[in-house]
Amino acid sequence: MYCLCAVGSGVIYFIIPKGSLEKPMRVMLGVFLLSVLITPVFKNQIGDLSSVLGLFDENSVQPPPDGILSHYEENIKATVAGLLDKNGLECKKVEIFMDIDGDNYIYIKRIVLMLANEKDSENIAGFLEQIGYQATKDYGEADLIILNSCAVRKSAEDKVLGEIGALKKYKRNKPELIIALCGCMAQEEAMVNLVINKYRHVDLIFGTHNINRLPWLLKRCYKEKSRVVEVYSTKAEVIEGLPDIKMNKHKAWINIAYGCDKFCSYCIVPFTRGKQRSRYKEFILKEIDDCKSQSYKELTLLGQNVNSYGKDLYENYGFADLLAAAAESQIPRLRFVTSHPWDFNQEMIDVMKRYDNIMPYLHLPLQSGDDEILKKMGRRYSQEDYLSLFDRLKTALPNLSFSTDIIVGFPGEEEKQFLNTIKVVEYCRFDNIFSFIYSPRVGTPAALLADEVSLSVKKQRLKYLNDTFKPLALANAQKYQDQEVEVLVDGPSKTKPEIYSGYSPANKVVNFSSENPLKPGDLVKVRVDKVKTFTLEGKEVF
Ligand code: SAM
Ligand code: SF4
Repeated sequence: MYCLCAVGSGVIYFIIPKGSLEKPMRVMLGVFLLSVLITPVFKNQIGDLSSVLGLFDENSVQPPPDGILSHYEENIKATVAGLLDKNGLECKKVEIFMDIDGDNYIYIKRIVLMLANEKDSENIAGFLEQIGYQATKDYGEADLIILNSCAVRKSAEDKVLGEIGALKKYKRNKPELIIALCGCMAQEEAMVNLVINKYRHVDLIFGTHNINRLPWLLKRCYKEKSRVVEVYSTKAEVIEGLPDIKMNKHKAWINIAYGCDKFCSYCIVPFTRGKQRSRYKEFILKEIDDCKSQSYKELTLLGQNVNSYGKDLYENYGFADLLAAAAESQIPRLRFVTSHPWDFNQEMIDVMKRYDNIMPYLHLPLQSGDDEILKKMGRRYSQEDYLSLFDRLKTALPNLSFSTDIIVGFPGEEEKQFLNTIKVVEYCRFDNIFSFIYSPRVGTPAALLADEVSLSVKKQRLKYLNDTFKPLALANAQKYQDQEVEVLVDGPSKTKPEIYSGYSPANKVVNFSSENPLKPGDLVKVRVDKVKTFTLEGKEVF
């Protein structure tokens, strides 16, 4: 009870406008108001402390944005709204968990194949730092190890399972160690059952919709000394104000929408990450402004299908509007990923053309160049549609560089259908291709199709695809020979500290020497003296 009062009064304290009262008076008024508020709300629940200790309960109210409030104030509003909701349970601020013994070390292992996982890791790290954890790169030192998993292909899952197996010895050496699994694999029922039954040293499993509950779940692990599994399957809401520790101080990823509604027949993402939920534009633009004021140089707007941004939220506000508003922030470099050809309209091309700070690089997944396979994949465009969009983009933005995703060996893919993909590759001369062998995912419609293509044929096709596109990509890159390119510095190379590394506007890795000591986030000019397929080499020029 004392604890609740302390936290609650803190909440009230923060909603009394600063400057309207002296600090001691705000605290006292806060305690008084809280005691008036909580008596009826808690009277039946006071015995069940664990139910009121959640940071954000699933019944908490997320108020719509009425003007731009800071994320912190937004959290507090949600907290108070929850307190006042007769039927709901309430939210608590994170300080409540500070009683977990200090000096905890955490290791978040990102087995990442998807940027969404990367972003989730930033939020997880943010929560953990707030409750007193520090990062370590050493499994042996960690008190908490979280494996953030991807389920897009079986190979990714196998890697995670291998990693979980390898962690057993750390648990043996340190029984109080907490091992957690989160991410897309945690959203798959069969996988959760497998981990529960076969990997008994995993203490905590939480899903992609439960990240905001992490402090509460950890609390349960510590206090109850029991295994905790919490996975919501259909939680369709956006929670704002999650803390995050950005991986970089000069470039950041900003979620503009979560989940995906496209249901491509091979893809597990709509099942593991839920339907599309766009964020209100005010929150996104506020985050962009915050990054700008913290001197971030590059922002990437992130979503499974950025081009359909806003369709679930607004009638007259879409990705083109958001992109233009983001570019207006004058952030030096703006990128976005991933684009689906289906929703890519002329307005978006016009915005890309209008703003110099939108970088000339586009990831435009093709998946297949064959109409029949595209239909079976549920991609809703034909080869002709893709090429027509490609041509319109190239005409509007001649310097635009392209990368794509291609799946080979989709069920029933015949040789001539694969060769249709190769035709598109030869036409578009992509600067990079992320190519994958089709991997059946349980629960997706494509997994029910007979998969007659043998593994050896799939491997041959993958090799043929890579052998075709690499020389084209190299020929494309020759245009940079002896040219100056702007590079956003990431830092010295890991293997050669005298060489710096960074990215050009067209997303080429540039390795270069400099006579100056440079730091991550510097924007420098580099003259290219050597061109390789995926990298450029050169020297800084002044
Ligand atoms: N939303 C993005 C899009 O539409 O392109 C892609 C997200 S998905 C995480 C990244 C890529 O993984 C896809 O573009 C696709 O090429 C590949 N992928 C997805 N499911 C796959 C599967 N079952 N087998 C092989 N590759 C797959
Ligand atoms: Fe998966 Fe298709 Fe959605 Fe991309 S658009 S995440 S491939 S369902």
